Amino acid sequence: MTTKTMTANGTTQHASMFEAVLARLDVAAKIYGLSPEASLILRSPEKQVRVSLPIVMDNGKVEVFDGYRTVHSTVLGPSKGGIRYAMDVNSDEVNALSAWMSFKCAVANLPYGGAKGGIKCDPKKMSAGELERLTKAYAAAMSDVFGVNKDIPAPDMGTGKKEMAWLLTEYNKITGEHAPGVVTGKPITLGGSRGREAATGRGVMIATLEAMKKTGMNRKSATAAVQGFGNVGSHAVRLLASKEIKIVGISDHTAAFWNEKGFDVEAALRYVQNNNGVLKGFTGGTEISNDELLCGKADVLVPAAIQNVITAEIANKIQAKLIIEGANGPTTAEADKILHDKGIVVVPDILANGGGVTVSYFEWVQNKSGHYWSEDEVNARHDASMEKAFENVWYNAQQYKTSMRLGAYISALKKLEKGIRYRGNY
Ligand code: GLU
Repeated sequence: MTTKTMTANGTTQHASMFEAVLARLDVAAKIYGLSPEASLILRSPEKQVRVSLPIVMDNGKVEVFDGYRTVHSTVLGPSKGGIRYAMDVNSDEVNALSAWMSFKCAVANLPYGGAKGGIKCDPKKMSAGELERLTKAYAAAMSDVFGVNKDIPAPDMGTGKKEMAWLLTEYNKITGEHAPGVVTGKPITLGGSRGREAATGRGVMIATLEAMKKTGMNRKSATAAVQGFGNVGSHAVRLLASKEIKIVGISDHTAAFWNEKGFDVEAALRYVQNNNGVLKGFTGGTEISNDELLCGKADVLVPAAIQNVITAEIANKIQAKLIIEGANGPTTAEADKILHDKGIVVVPDILANGGGVTVSYFEWVQNKSGHYWSEDEVNARHDASMEKAFENVWYNAQQYKTSMRLGAYISALKKLEKGIRYRGNY
């Protein structure tokens, strides 16, 4: 049973994020003809862990934080997925994101299952010391969940290489051996991969170029608006501009800007670097609202911030012809249908933002072999892998006469079903 509520404009909205994932899974399963057994298995995350993390804050007081890790599937390999630090982290969201990781890894052809974790906290309000203690407490509490051939965390919203270094340090301390492959997205000095930091943005760029080829859009005359200027958005902006795509809209959680002549992208990147990491106060364009950014006149829209920003209401007003989902779950299930009916091509998150986990996989391979690759080698392998995944999803969408989102789900379901069948039951 899925719980739905009616919104003001008469469309339905899923009360639970995990249920919204299941709703899409069910649609794809029906089109593809997924076996009831595989469907049952994929509807239930394999493992859900919730921990309480008591931390001594800088003021000497103890605060208790909620930590989560969900392993959705290990059918295709050890589970893989990031750790997010945000105030709205909860078990439902972590479950949804973990399922997406299973599908994302399958779409990207990686030998991984899917997982996701998080801590309910506001990292912007915490000192470096508090964050280090919190991350190490989380690593200790999850030390029997994680493992180099078991469950491999990585960065996600609100975390980066610094947190991954603390996680690795604590995990290695507990297990008593150096296992750099237990976490990806690490600093290069601790065994991280070249190209990992920019990888999700790079994947967005490749997905955009591939989608432009398929839809006959000329990149040299195309314009793009990108929502989000964090790890995904900022690299996407930089890399799209490097391909001569004119960036006309940029934003972060503090401000949104429009410039129909095209932004000086390097200036925006420099501004953010010298302005505490935020765009507020940038003078390279006209300040607009976030909704105006999403609905502005650009050929390509890249939502690369948070989930559920493209609602049914926004979808009705979107002018872009192509949407490339840099964030996880930026489009609601209800908006999907509207976009499809309007003929807008949506390159779904489980394909478009798979560049990050693809280079995470390369990092893990390098850690296992002890042989490290050049940035050019990483990028070349990444681009080839993304292009192949894109082609496969496009093929499935055509073959099953459906959207790219459902085509991506079908690509994943084909592999997962085969894996489930080979493994047998008990
Ligand atoms: N958190 C990223 C994602 O959602 C990366 C996951 C990983 O590298 O394991 O895809």
